[in-house]
Amino acid sequence: MTDLHRRGLMFVLSSPSGAGKTTLSRRLLVDDPEIDISVSATTRPPREGEIEGRDYRFVDDAAFDALVARDDLLEWAKVFGYRYGTPRGPVEATLHAGRDVLFDIDWQGTQQLQQTDAASDLVRVFILPPTMAELERRLRGRGTDAPDVVAARMQRAATEISHWGEYDYILINDDPDRCLGELRAILKAERLRRKRQLGLANFVRTMLA
Ligand code: 5GP
Repeated sequence: MTDLHRRGLMFVLSSPSGAGKTTLSRRLLVDDPEIDISVSATTRPPREGEIEGRDYRFVDDAAFDALVARDDLLEWAKVFGYRYGTPRGPVEATLHAGRDVLFDIDWQGTQQLQQTDAASDLVRVFILPPTMAELERRLRGRGTDAPDVVAARMQRAATEISHWGEYDYILINDDPDRCLGELRAILKAERLRRKRQLGLANFVRTMLA
């Protein structure tokens, strides 16, 4: 029997804060058994409701320094004055097992991943809000942040959005259900790429024999 296994891919989702990325990635993970999320390390303190090890690994500055010094992070960046980074070990283990990894990281991290050996495993998706007014409404509606924080996030959103051209797919999240369907379709098609279907040459050779 021919071994038709798959090469795991790195599925990157970036968007400005408030574009619905977190909800979309949670929904994607719930009913897709072949993809795991990469849990980032961060020096940001936990927000209400966030769970250690599920949302982030919350670490102090010294622990983050140690992760960087040991080269334990695949990429890291500073966002809003805090550091965020992707632990290398879990990603490599998941990919090795032929499963996919979902990354909720910003444009800086995406650029760094693009510069690694793993660039050919990368699928980059950028999620845009329908309008900046809608984005601001969502940021205010969340009610967790002070007005000056919302203003700073709007400024940062414009910077994040300016990097849309560095992504493979651009989705406009004016309808979360449709957007989720589009994300699933991208994932499905990318999994079927010839380069990710290991053992295909053997399969075809056996078939023709
Ligand atoms: P938040 O503090 O709202 O959870 O995240 C702020 C920003 O940091 C989001 O755009 C998020 O995608 C990004 N982020 C989270 N984890 C990482 C990471 O490990 N690396 C990078 N480069 N960005 C991250």
